[in-house]
Amino acid sequence: MKELVICSGKGGTGKTSVTAALAALSQNRVLVDGDVDAADLYMVVGPRPYQEGDFEGGHEAVIRQEDCDACGLCHELCRFDAITETPDGSGGNVYQVDPVMCEGCGVCVHFCPTDAIDFPVSVTGQWFVSDTRHGPMVHARLKPGGENSGKLVTLVREMAKELAAEGNFDLVLVDGPPGIGCPVTAAITNSDMILAVTEPGVSGHHDLMRLLDLAKTFSVPVAVCINKADLNPKLSRKIVEDSEARGATMVGEIPFDPAITQAQIHGCSVVEDGESAAAEAMRSVWKKTEALLNQV
Ligand code: SF4
Ligand code: SF4
Repeated sequence: MKELVICSGKGGTGKTSVTAALAALSQNRVLVDGDVDAADLYMVVGPRPYQEGDFEGGHEAVIRQEDCDACGLCHELCRFDAITETPDGSGGNVYQVDPVMCEGCGVCVHFCPTDAIDFPVSVTGQWFVSDTRHGPMVHARLKPGGENSGKLVTLVREMAKELAAEGNFDLVLVDGPPGIGCPVTAAITNSDMILAVTEPGVSGHHDLMRLLDLAKTFSVPVAVCINKADLNPKLSRKIVEDSEARGATMVGEIPFDPAITQAQIHGCSVVEDGESAAAEAMRSVWKKTEALLNQV
């Protein structure tokens, strides 16, 4: 079983459109929406969830007022300004934790002189296992402001790999998080290959190079495809040169094509929505990517 992670280095390159097309073109796969901060692959694969659960991503401080002697130390120590100080009307103050601001660092719990702060586990997201028209899918949603998106990405990948092993699937196809931060690191660590989707813009080029450097540190091979390549042929050529210089393999260019937006409106991928230049390019990208994946 192989694991392919589709990344972009930045948002808005068409990564999810490419993932949706590959989900339709590949066979015997488990899908993962690894963009836990803004999951959207599920919108084009029609999931029917049959299992779900809570993700416990950290801890949250809670002050027991009956044990608090209002010394104010926690308010002073909290570097996230998560502990409010409100006059109690008789010359003293009441201290309370704002659950949205609390980062769960535990400093206040450790230093409270009266042990008045509880530190329960907090639920910061939810995971789902679904049937889709392209096979099983695991996805998750982090609550707004929820912590530990990297841990949640790791969790959905592990769940998908278990599903794939139990059901004798050949491929785990991950729609990775955008950017190059902690969630991306969690998505690519120990994966078999990355397909980087970029576009010919200055920031697209810059962020792709950062992604290629990151992948190198994890020794994960990278294939690159350029979306909307015809909008800036000169920069597309530079992306090809610089990617190959960093050891990546080009697997194709997808032209700008309104058929991709039309397919989104129809709730499917471009390869399921009739013939188009983009659909043809996506098929070619998958053929080359699959060949590379079979070699790693
Ligand atoms: S450090 Fe403890 S006792 Fe002091 S205000 Fe905070 S919760 Fe109350
Ligand atoms: S756990 Fe950390 S972030 Fe939360 S209230 Fe205490 S000191 Fe502040």
